[in-house]
Amino acid sequence: MVKFVFITGGVLSSVGKGVVTASIGKMLQVRGFTITAIKIDPYVNVDAGTMNPYIHGEVFVTEDGGETDLDLGNYERFLDLNLPKENNITTGQIYQTVIDKERRGDFLGRCVQIVPHITDEIKRRIRFVAEKSNVDVVLSECGGTIGDIEGLPFLEAIRQMRLEEGLENTIYVHVALVPILDVTGEMKTKPCQHSVNELRRIGIQPDIIVARSRKMIDSEARRKIALFGTIPEKAVFCSYNLPSIYQVPIALDEQGMGEYICSRLNLLKRIPEWSRWKGLIDSIINPQFEVKIALIGKYANLVDSYVSMNAALRHGGAACQTRIFIDYLEAEEFEQNPTKAKILKNYDGIFVPYGFGKRGTEGKMKAIRFARENNIPFLGICYGFQLAVVEFARNVCRLKEASSTEINPDTPHPVIDLMPEQRKIKYKGATMRLGAHKIIIDEGTLAHRLYGNTEISERHRHRWEVNQDYWSTLEKNGLVFSGKNPDGQRMEILELPDKLFFFASQFHGEFKSRLGKPDPEYYGFINACLNKYQKKL
Ligand code: GLN
Repeated sequence: MVKFVFITGGVLSSVGKGVVTASIGKMLQVRGFTITAIKIDPYVNVDAGTMNPYIHGEVFVTEDGGETDLDLGNYERFLDLNLPKENNITTGQIYQTVIDKERRGDFLGRCVQIVPHITDEIKRRIRFVAEKSNVDVVLSECGGTIGDIEGLPFLEAIRQMRLEEGLENTIYVHVALVPILDVTGEMKTKPCQHSVNELRRIGIQPDIIVARSRKMIDSEARRKIALFGTIPEKAVFCSYNLPSIYQVPIALDEQGMGEYICSRLNLLKRIPEWSRWKGLIDSIINPQFEVKIALIGKYANLVDSYVSMNAALRHGGAACQTRIFIDYLEAEEFEQNPTKAKILKNYDGIFVPYGFGKRGTEGKMKAIRFARENNIPFLGICYGFQLAVVEFARNVCRLKEASSTEINPDTPHPVIDLMPEQRKIKYKGATMRLGAHKIIIDEGTLAHRLYGNTEISERHRHRWEVNQDYWSTLEKNGLVFSGKNPDGQRMEILELPDKLFFFASQFHGEFKSRLGKPDPEYYGFINACLNKYQKKL
């Protein structure tokens, strides 16, 4: 019998539900249980692909080409799973299916309603994931905060699942903020009590409450949360601030959460095996070296826009016993102030991430040029790859007005152009070149040394690519395209062999990177950044 864990959040959004969800998964995994994780997003978008990363954070891309909420990335990294796109459920998908059925005539004669038709579709999708993944435990995190109107149908659906699946097969975990007053240091449980009340009003009595707090909650706060939440004190846990989010599952398990969940779900009691996970974390929290990276971005003011990249840099760092400092620098500032690029001298590496549209592109290219001319390790991802091609075309191949048609549709030298199959596409949703595709790597190149293979598979999300008409000009001037798609029609990797490390990819290595299994391009980059230690790993 499959078990279901439902996670809701209270008081504030961004309270850390995602990390608690992933941590519950980890606690179950180290006990030998198989799991999968679903993220429910109550917004009406069908997927996260059309949302601005500056407001909503990064769009995560799954192997099968789903454009999902960034929480799926956290689950994948924590749990070392490749999740399919159906593990991100949105209001948009639910309504789209129900309305399609209605138009087909499946409900002929009946009035189609939120209860039962919408709630049935929600339950069907959760159960579909359970069946298809064939795991012991399915975790479902409900996005947003208790009290949001748009979350109600989802809460109603998970409420019904308790009745249908049985008490010992379902568990409700509520994560709520417990603020600490600056002046008195007092821990305030009232907001948490209110959100539990709101949850009960909907008909859900939580089984576990996780207090999200800066520090470990004291016994008085724990007593109050238990009393007003109507749960035993041993079902109250605290997720407090830690140097690394990877420490959260251990901290929760030390409070007895793993054992409590297993006994509540009637899962065989097993001894958790934390040693491997602890070893991995050790490489993050006890580094020997340090490097400083400049990330030149367009969404630099919202760190969530680059979560997977940030994680992949840290995974690369952990593999080299290196702490990573990342400065998020706004690309446009490099355009307004011509001498700004000089500050890049203070960094061990320059990183240009993904991006869309014109804003900030000239600034990113200034940074790329600085990296190339000063032989500072450079890694470019997707737009970073395309802009490295434009910069090279302009300043090395002397094609002064070279550009991408995304930036300037009338450029005389469109070195980056829309992929042919993209030209006829009108709809924006889920129409980019998405998900995992094969790449063939040339022997004897840096890419070959990094990947140790001539065939790899990496995830993509783009519409533009290197224009075939310019391949030979770029190559004649020294740019090496060391990775291509299997029919050789699409450039995937570039490198400059005479530089310490100048490497960029059309794909996104960060989506597959894991702690303990760093992505090769990120690992290679950090390794090159360590040059000041004269360290050759
Ligand atoms: N805007 C570029 C494209 O669509 C790059 C996309 C990206 O960086 N993910 O091709």
